[in-house]
Amino acid sequence: MQSIVRSTFGSGTGPDHLLVNAMLLNIALIIFGWRRYRDLTKEIAERRKAEETARKLAETDPLTECLNRRSMERTTNELRRVSNDYGQAVAFVMIDLDNFKQVNDMNGHGIGDRVLTSLAEQLRQCLPGGTPLARLGGDEFAFAISYDPSNPARVDDIVSKLFESVCGGIDLDGTTIHCTMSIGIASDHSSQSRNDAITDGEKLMHRADIAMYQAKKSGKNRHFWFQSTVENELRFRNELEAGIRRGVRNGEFVPYYEQQIDLDSGELVGFEMLARWNTPDMGVVNPEIFIPIAEEIGVIGELSEQLMVQAFDDAKEWDPKLTLSVNISPVQMRDRWFSQRLLKLLFEHNFPAQRLEIEITETCLHENIGLVRSMISSLRNQGVKVSLDDFGTGYASLSQLRTLPFDRIKIDRSFVRELNYRDSSKIVDAIVSLGNGLEMPITAEGIENEAILETLRRMGQLKGQGYLYGHPEPAVRVIERLRGQGRLSKAGENRNDSGAVTDELADQRRA
Ligand SMILES: [Mg+2]
Repeated sequence: MQSIVRSTFGSGTGPDHLLVNAMLLNIALIIFGWRRYRDLTKEIAERRKAEETARKLAETDPLTECLNRRSMERTTNELRRVSNDYGQAVAFVMIDLDNFKQVNDMNGHGIGDRVLTSLAEQLRQCLPGGTPLARLGGDEFAFAISYDPSNPARVDDIVSKLFESVCGGIDLDGTTIHCTMSIGIASDHSSQSRNDAITDGEKLMHRADIAMYQAKKSGKNRHFWFQSTVENELRFRNELEAGIRRGVRNGEFVPYYEQQIDLDSGELVGFEMLARWNTPDMGVVNPEIFIPIAEEIGVIGELSEQLMVQAFDDAKEWDPKLTLSVNISPVQMRDRWFSQRLLKLLFEHNFPAQRLEIEITETCLHENIGLVRSMISSLRNQGVKVSLDDFGTGYASLSQLRTLPFDRIKIDRSFVRELNYRDSSKIVDAIVSLGNGLEMPITAEGIENEAILETLRRMGQLKGQGYLYGHPEPAVRVIERLRGQGRLSKAGENRNDSGAVTDELADQRRA
């Protein structure tokens, strides 16, 4: 540097070229390094922002921006850990609208969605700041709150405030929609539940669910604390059992349908049939409540066959290219005549075996593998496809996968929902490679947003289903959807108006 200055002022010879080059190179490296550092900082900030958006998408319900079921369970567990450390109890409060189906039927789904958004806002305003609020699905909301176990009245006060706020109606551009709610509360405090303290969030949610159904059963528009006194539980259980037997007799169980999509083309390829119970006194009850009891009291076979018959009739009105998937309970798979009964049902109702796909879970596999294998083979010989459902949550071994002739593997929703997180994408990736290796096509369940869909599309040629494509819907809605897409069969197109009306009426009557 000194020789450069001296040479500039004419006193001395020029600098050594090698040194000048070295210095210029140094300066260039510093500039390059600085620019790289700046770009990197920018890139990290953008990536953080994208990760934050993905996390938010994965954890929230897109319609109401409340938490979703999965993140609510985690949040409740966190709240319980902190609260219990300070001697506080946590109440999990489950809210369900009593007449949401009528709101949807009378005003359309657009208004239904706005009712849900406004309701979420009203709930938020009534709850103390920072209370985790979730939409668990459909018209079901929940929040968790900590309270002093000697003062459960605090929770009752908050719930009364909710009732007051909602009983005035929900105002949409001058039109007031009147709604009532049934609320179930479960506490993790032992004296509240009168016998055992609760150790996991899932059980707490389940108890709140039961309390909510008890509130519905006691006449709706009220709240109910879960009490696990033996008489209460037994009474409710007996009522449910009697209700299920009556429901089977009166045809109260109806099929709902969830769309299955070819992820590459976005084309609808079929529907999975899901059971719903349209009770006269509790509204639409989800299968998690009634299926285990129906299995225990031995009516699951009859219930399932009733639903299948309805589904065969419904599916005959659809484009014959659309498949119908039906879930089979492990209890049904213990019946050695199951495959014959199913084939007889197909024959009697003139439904092509090639359109039917049955879904069995991994639990079936470790009960009587020989029997299961022969049933799968005889069904496949007749053209029925068999898929392994909820893969990854049970105990299917690789050798079972290799030797049992499945047509498809369905990746459990719990892995798919987590796809925005790195470790879970490794699991899904591995299952997809496994499927490719065994030449078994894959369906991903639980696709909830575009980000998950994009990740799955990159993994290969998959089918998929999930709330991104819509919630499960009753037969009449499926017909409307298919009519809009021009995908009804001749029978569906010829369905006269009186037929449609009769169906609508039947649907309302069931509701
Ligand atoms: Mg299934």
